Amino acid sequence: MGLSVTADTIAVEALEAAGDVAFVWDFVSDEVIWGGNISSLVGDGPSNVFQSGETFITRIHDADLPGRLRVLDGNLGNDGHYECEYRLRLSGQDFTWVHEKGRVMRNDDGMPQRTVGVLRIIEGRKRNERLIEHFSNYDVLTGHLSRNRLRDALENAFQYGERFNIDGAFLLIGIDGLGEIRDRYGMDAADNVIISAGQILEHMLRSIDVIGRQGADRFGIVTTNCKQDDLNVLIERLLHAFQTTPVRAGDAEVTLRVSIGLSRFPEDVHTVPEILARTEQALQYARDLGGDQAHVYHPSDEDRTRVRNSLAIAGQIERALENDCLEFAFQPIVSCRTRRISYYEALVRMRDNGEVLPASVFVPVAEHCGLIRDLDRWALQACLERLTEHPGLTLSLNLSGMTVTDPSWLRLLASQLRGREDIASRLILEITETVALEDIEITGHFITTARDLGCKVALDDFGSGHTSFRHMRSLIVDVVKIDRIFVRDWHQSGDRANFIGKLMTIARETGFEIVAEGVEDKFTAEMLASEGVDYLQGWYLGKPMLEQEWLAYYKADAS
Ligand code: C2E
Ligand code: CA
Ligand code: CA
Repeated sequence: MGLSVTADTIAVEALEAAGDVAFVWDFVSDEVIWGGNISSLVGDGPSNVFQSGETFITRIHDADLPGRLRVLDGNLGNDGHYECEYRLRLSGQDFTWVHEKGRVMRNDDGMPQRTVGVLRIIEGRKRNERLIEHFSNYDVLTGHLSRNRLRDALENAFQYGERFNIDGAFLLIGIDGLGEIRDRYGMDAADNVIISAGQILEHMLRSIDVIGRQGADRFGIVTTNCKQDDLNVLIERLLHAFQTTPVRAGDAEVTLRVSIGLSRFPEDVHTVPEILARTEQALQYARDLGGDQAHVYHPSDEDRTRVRNSLAIAGQIERALENDCLEFAFQPIVSCRTRRISYYEALVRMRDNGEVLPASVFVPVAEHCGLIRDLDRWALQACLERLTEHPGLTLSLNLSGMTVTDPSWLRLLASQLRGREDIASRLILEITETVALEDIEITGHFITTARDLGCKVALDDFGSGHTSFRHMRSLIVDVVKIDRIFVRDWHQSGDRANFIGKLMTIARETGFEIVAEGVEDKFTAEMLASEGVDYLQGWYLGKPMLEQEWLAYYKADAS
C-alpha cells in the first residue's frame, strides 16, 4: 500500500469518519480515556467533565440512567457485550441522544475491570422516530388526535363507562359542503376551514373531552360523565358556535354549517364498532335532513329485540369456534369460455343443534361483536387445509373489513404461505368494495402484500355501494365480482347495462377478470356471457354445497 498510516491512525480516522467516539473506562481508577474526536461529542464545552466515570454519569438524563445501569449490570453473561441508548447533556442545558455499544471486561475472578466501547450521536434518527410517532398519533393538518388514537380514547371511555356505570357519548361533527368550499376557494382554503372547525370545537369542550380527526370532513368527540340534558346543551352550543363564528376561506369569510351525529353508551350502543357505526348513521341522517342540525341515535324496540337476538347469536358463534362447529359450503364459479367449473367460493356455515345457519345470519353479528377476527382466522386455516389436500383446487375466501385492516392477519397469512407458492397461487382473497374504498391506503397495502405473497385479490359486491370507477384504477385487483343486486334484472335497465359496459372497458385496460354473482336463470347467464363477463356464479350454476356433497361433486368434476 502506498499510504503511510499505522493501524492506530486508521482506527482513529475511521471513528471520526463514522462520527463515533471510542472510550475506555477503568472501573478501578474511574478514569475515562477517549479516542477519536471527543469535541464532536462535547462541542466547545469543557471536556474534562467526561474524564471520570462519575462525572460522565451526572450528564446522563435522570430518566435514562437506570436503563443504562440495568444493561451494564444485566447483560454481562453475553460475553460482556452491551448496547444502550440515552440522552446525554453536553455543553449548556441541551440533551442529545447517543447510542453506546461496548463490552465489559472482567478479571479472572469475574469482577468487572473496565468497559471499552463506542458512542455515537443519534439525535437525527431519534428526531425522525419522534416525528413518525407524532404523525401516527396526531392528524398532520389539525394537530388533533388521529383516527386510531381517537378510537383508543373511545375504547377506554367505553370500558370505563361499562365498569363504573358512567354515561358517555360519541359525537361526529361533519362539515357540510366541504367539497363545494374546496371547488370554490381551493385546497388550501378548505384545509384552513378544517383547521378552524377543529379550533371552534376545541373551544367548546371541557378538558376531559377528547377530540380527534375522524375523516376528511369530520371530527369525533368522546365525552364522558354527561346526562342526556347536558348532551342536548352541548349540541345546541356547538351548532350555535358554528353559526356565529365565521372562518377564513382564502380571501373570503364563510359561515360553516355542520351536521352532528351522536350515540350514547353504554345505554344505547353496546360495543365500540357499534358506537362508530351508529354515530356514523346518525350523522348521515342529520345530513339527509338538510344539515345544520343534530341527530341522536335511539334504538327502537325493534333494534332492542335485534340486540337481544344478536347477543344470543354471538354466544352461538363463540361456542361454535370453541367446539369446531364451523364449516364451509362451497359454491362453484364457472368459466364462460370453457363452461366448466374454474374454482369455488368458500362460504362459512355454523352448525347449531343440527341446524346449519348461513353466513348472512351470523357474519354481521360476528363483525359487530368483535368475533370476526377469530372467525376469519379459522376460515384461513380451513381453506389452506383444503388447498393442501386437493392440489388441483382453487378457493376464494371472504374477508371482513376488520380483517383487511388487521396486520396480525396479514402476518398469519405470510407465515402460512412462506415457501408454499403453489398454495398461494390457488387462493383468492375477497374484499368488499365498500371496505376497500373506506381507506384506500390501508386497502392498497393489503392488496400489495397479498399479491406479493402470490395470492389473487377480488373486489366483492361491486356495484352495491357508492361505486367509484375513478378509484378502480388505483386498486390493482385480479378479479371484480359484480353484486347480485346488480345482476338481477340488469338487462331491463339501460343504466345497468351501461355500468357493465363501463366496467368491461376498465377491465380490458387494467386486466382484471369479471365474475357475475347471483345468476339464477339461464337467460341471465347467457346474456352476461355474451356481454363478455368471464365467470358466472349463482344458483343456476350451482348452490353452495356442504363438505360431503361438495367433495363427491368436486371429485366427479375433476375426473
Ligand atoms: P357474498 O360473498 O356476497 O356471498 C354470496 C352470498 O350469496 C352467499 O350467502 C351465497 O349463499 C348467496 N348466493 C349465491 N348464489 C346466489 C343466488 O344465485 N341467488 C341468491 N339469492 N343468493 C345467492 P351467504 O353464504 O349467506 O354469505 C353471505 C355473506 O357472508 C357473503 O356474501 C360474505 O360477505 C359473508 N361471508 C361468507 N363466508 C364468510 C367468511 O368465511 N368470512 C367472512 N368474513 N365473511 C363471509
Ligand atoms: Ca364473496
Ligand atoms: Ca358478493
